[in-house]
Amino acid sequence: MKKVTEYICIQCPMGCPLQLTHEAKEIIEIEGYTCNRGAKYARQEFTDPRRSLSTTISIEGALWGRLPVKVTQPLPKNRVIEAAKVIHSLKVKSPVKRGQVLIKNILGDEGSDVVACRSM
Ligand code: SF4
Repeated sequence: MKKVTEYICIQCPMGCPLQLTHEAKEIIEIEGYTCNRGAKYARQEFTDPRRSLSTTISIEGALWGRLPVKVTQPLPKNRVIEAAKVIHSLKVKSPVKRGQVLIKNILGDEGSDVVACRSM
């Protein structure tokens, strides 16, 4: 039985409403996009939704107590909380350089590292 899942494309401020028609896991049709980025976004959301993660961690010996960090590649949506818990358990000591890898492969084989967003 065919179903339609709706998304709002977040690839640019236009926010095109997308309709992805599927039968079980098979994509039948994608409509509503103005450019190909929308179709790609809907396909990604349906097959393997991912999210970026930016947050802060505790740092000792710096001017401020929190260091901004981010992941280098979007993570599977259903594992973002797991990654956030690992990141928040981390404490680092100054000095830290911008781009320094603080955790390699945060989720094992996902290929996304946690890096510092600034030097402190
Ligand atoms: S489909 Fe294209 S134009 Fe529409 S929101 Fe996505 S990126 Fe922007």
